[in-house]
Amino acid sequence: MIVIVGGGISGLSLAHELAARDQPFLLLEASARAGGVMRSGRVNGHLLEWGPQRARLTKDFAALIEDLGVCDQLITAPAGLPLFVYARGRLRRVPFSPGEFLRSDILTARGKLRLLLEPLTSRARADESVAGFFTRKLGREVYENLAGPLYGGLYASDPREMEVGLSLAHVLREFGVGRSLLLPLLRQGGSVAPPDACSFRDGLETLPRALQERHAAHIHLHKPVRAIERRGHGYVVTTDHDRIDAAHVVITTPAPAAAALLDGLASDAAACIATLRYNPLTVVHLLADTELRGLGYQVSLAESLVTRGVTWNDSLFGRRGVYTAYLGGAKNPWIADESSERAGQIAVEEFRIATGADATVLAVEQERMPAWDRTWTAIQDLTLPPNLHIHANWMARPGIPGRLAVSRRLAATLAPDAVS
Ligand SMILES: Cc1cc2nc3c(=O)[nH]c(=O)nc-3n(C[C@H](O)[C@H](O)[C@H](O)COP(=O)(O)OP(=O)(O)OC[C@H]3O[C@@H](n4cnc5c(N)ncnc54)[C@H](O)[C@@H]3O)c2cc1C
Repeated sequence: MIVIVGGGISGLSLAHELAARDQPFLLLEASARAGGVMRSGRVNGHLLEWGPQRARLTKDFAALIEDLGVCDQLITAPAGLPLFVYARGRLRRVPFSPGEFLRSDILTARGKLRLLLEPLTSRARADESVAGFFTRKLGREVYENLAGPLYGGLYASDPREMEVGLSLAHVLREFGVGRSLLLPLLRQGGSVAPPDACSFRDGLETLPRALQERHAAHIHLHKPVRAIERRGHGYVVTTDHDRIDAAHVVITTPAPAAAALLDGLASDAAACIATLRYNPLTVVHLLADTELRGLGYQVSLAESLVTRGVTWNDSLFGRRGVYTAYLGGAKNPWIADESSERAGQIAVEEFRIATGADATVLAVEQERMPAWDRTWTAIQDLTLPPNLHIHANWMARPGIPGRLAVSRRLAATLAPDAVS
């Protein structure tokens, strides 16, 4: 029996992969619902996402929703929606092709010329900061207005505190980037075309709900795991009312909960995991009557706004008037201590500055994201007891497509003889 601790998308997608391989498992989730940070709901009739705003229609994602029979609920963003960065006092379009790049006003002529030096710069060093790497390769303007907000924004982190070897290196490897960032891109024609942005009519939580329904017999809600102890070659997993024998245990919880569970079982690992930093994010849902068309915007690192970025759910998925603003992160963590009313006011004021549009507040909530910064040094050589696995968004590939891909790989290791 494999016990999975935590029923976010990591645990649920692993459960699905194990079921496909006829591997016995039990998933224990602490709360009353499955899905973890993937949470959708309605306020005043408006569909809001408190966690991820969109997934990407990768091959894994498409295969999973086909399997679950929820393809008819899938919605995709209109093709070619522009993405913006708020830089030098206004929204500027992010270029995704050489033609757009030449026309773009996101960089000055000097910033564009600086890019010509990129192929002459040396390759990434594992110990340099992500900010240092982007600035050295692409110049300060590209770092502040494009690479910094777009990459750092994924983690709400400060690229000066992120290290290439701990975060960016795996992305560079995945895209086959060697010494130059630009030459491989130019060889492909210079255009960037990620898989379509997608969601579901009732929000992204449709996916964890469908996974939970499909495997309900093996998923126990309201079951916080309190302890994991060694027994022989396996483990005993303790909840408030049960003690469950497990040959393998997979922990998918956020780092603080994982550290607590490992304390006593793998104390050194627990101490390292406990030092990982999370960035606070205040999520403010706004309602605005505008004609804005695009995916949304990130904010240049040179700007003083507290807003990190805003997703335009209206044009992205036709959610009338809804805009989701992310405030704070590593740059302005104090926002997490402000009242919801104050956070809402700041979001409204800054939305007006960036877009010129008036908005009202629908909802304010606090979230946290693994920072993937220098504190990740602590887990580089993590040693875990045999048959105990960590499959969490702070160990590898935090995005939804990454979570699905890692689930598939882990299931193949846990059930090597199975045919899926
Ligand atoms: C605000 C925000 C925006 C994001 N935006 C995007 C996006 O647009 N696109 C994208 O691809 N990704 C995005 N991500 C990343 C992605 O959504 C997450 O990395 C992913 O959903 C995390 O899933 P998980 O299962 O690893 O962890 P979680 O969702 O955190 O699930 C962990 C589960 O473990 C449970 N748990 C904790 N302790 C215990 C215990 N002791 N016993 C049992 N259960 C326990 C929790 O209740 C929870 O359900 C975003 C993340 C956040 C927070």
